[in-house]
Amino acid sequence: MTGEARHPRRIVIAGGGTAGWMAAAAIARTMGRTVDLTLVESDAIGTIGVGESTIPPLINYNRLLGINEAEFMRATQATFKLGILFDNWKEPGHRYFHSFGYTGKDHWSAGFQHFWLCARDRGYEQSYDDYCLEVIAALQGKFAHLPDEAMNYAYQLDSTLYAKFLRTMAEGDGARRIEGRISQVELDGENGDIAALVLDSGTRIEGDLFIDCTGFRALLIEQTLHAGYDDWTHYLPCDSAIALQTENVGPAVPYTRAMAHDAGWQWRIPLQHRSGNGLVYCSRYLSREDALERLLGNIEGEVLTEPNFLRFQAGARRRQWHRNCVAIGLSSGFMEPLESTSIHLIQRAVLRLLRMMPQGDISERDIAEFNDQQNDDMLQIRDFLVLHYKATDRRDSPFWRYCAAMPIPDTLAQKVELFRETGRVFRKNEELFAENSWVQVMMGQGIMPRAYHPIAEKLRDDELEKFLGTLRGNVTRTVATLPAHADYVVRYCGTA
Ligand code: FAD
Repeated sequence: MTGEARHPRRIVIAGGGTAGWMAAAAIARTMGRTVDLTLVESDAIGTIGVGESTIPPLINYNRLLGINEAEFMRATQATFKLGILFDNWKEPGHRYFHSFGYTGKDHWSAGFQHFWLCARDRGYEQSYDDYCLEVIAALQGKFAHLPDEAMNYAYQLDSTLYAKFLRTMAEGDGARRIEGRISQVELDGENGDIAALVLDSGTRIEGDLFIDCTGFRALLIEQTLHAGYDDWTHYLPCDSAIALQTENVGPAVPYTRAMAHDAGWQWRIPLQHRSGNGLVYCSRYLSREDALERLLGNIEGEVLTEPNFLRFQAGARRRQWHRNCVAIGLSSGFMEPLESTSIHLIQRAVLRLLRMMPQGDISERDIAEFNDQQNDDMLQIRDFLVLHYKATDRRDSPFWRYCAAMPIPDTLAQKVELFRETGRVFRKNEELFAENSWVQVMMGQGIMPRAYHPIAEKLRDDELEKFLGTLRGNVTRTVATLPAHADYVVRYCGTA
């Protein structure tokens, strides 16, 4: 491939789900008329139709695209999200919150958890959560935009509507949409790259760079180019889900719920007009019929849709950019939606591709760098998800006993043991989840450090009390000024 003159001016996106339109909107807006951008999607095949909970970086993606937030929220029926409430993960009846905020105040040498642990040793009983604005606001059902972006948030949204919204933008920016089923992916007989997509109608779409957004089918990257797949089912054993939508019961809360059950977990995501619900489970331990019964037995509000049964295999495409094809979205791999990371991975891949957009020839160095960085992202997220299953006291079912006994990646073992021994967490290589996320989830799952940084000892009792009291007071006072989340959404979106 090296040395051949290839000028990826013609970019073809296969698939128009959330991934396809996120890619199209960003490329069209950023590259404008310098590229000839075509997206092919099949109405008959449709999209996966799930994906509702997101994480804060999506705010930046939308800003980059010049999207007005209120308009976006109206179009996608979005609510604000301050984090995830985890029920029954450490043990049945226990709950903890993983928020998007910062807890307390760090010293440059030591995270806030060290000071909190020191205080706990000295007999203080306040919860770690009391020092986090986002947790307290979420649990009281409150939200507002604060000056200096003092409250970190993301959205709960209808990703089908998001794709539709982005489609309008992308088409406005010059992207061309073709409807039809791709029946053949034509290879260049000389170099083995993809030359064209051929539709049922016989239409042939040639391109220089192809983006595979065909979802789990992975029509280009796997079915045609055989890029390979790393299976992570041994670390993330859930392989099935059932999704359905219900009417809202009560005002929408600014958080997603993840409720563990004896063979997986259940989500509840409140949007403006309805709630998304789903059961994620491991088919080795729960049948489809029992899973449906369990889901139907634990939902609130009238059911609005037929159940959507989904199967998946946790893992990652071995080469996400292979030859002249880049896989984005479900075609690039999948990890269950426990920490709402899939749409984020789409965003990362699209922005990364834009940074590495070839000027002329596709560079093997770019391909290698892209794959390396994507791989790092996925491995780090994988470790964070595995933590939720591994670090638990649950042994009450074969599923949880499997999780307790399963070997975990060395990278995760190092992180967990370092925290257990010293209370320290380090963020490496632009890792998505920062120290506070790891601390909240590790302590939430029951890992308590045996020690803390000696610098915390420097504070006398009265100093420590003042330090902690001020932080707690700030949180309490700020939350008291916040409006109810559901009212704020109505006012902000102008939908009253
Ligand atoms: P799809 O939506 O499947 O789109 C594929 C596109 O390719 C469609 O347009 C289809 O028509 C087209 N296509 C396929 N084959 C052909 C063909 N032969 N010819 C023409 N077109 C074709 N993510 C989150 O961030 N948060 C969540 O809370 C979340 N929850 C999830 C829950 C579950 C159970 C699952 C399985 C996923 C969840 N996700 C979540 C992931 C999220 O749904 C996806 O990342 C997102 O929807 C992107 O999907 P996609 O565009 O890659 O694929």
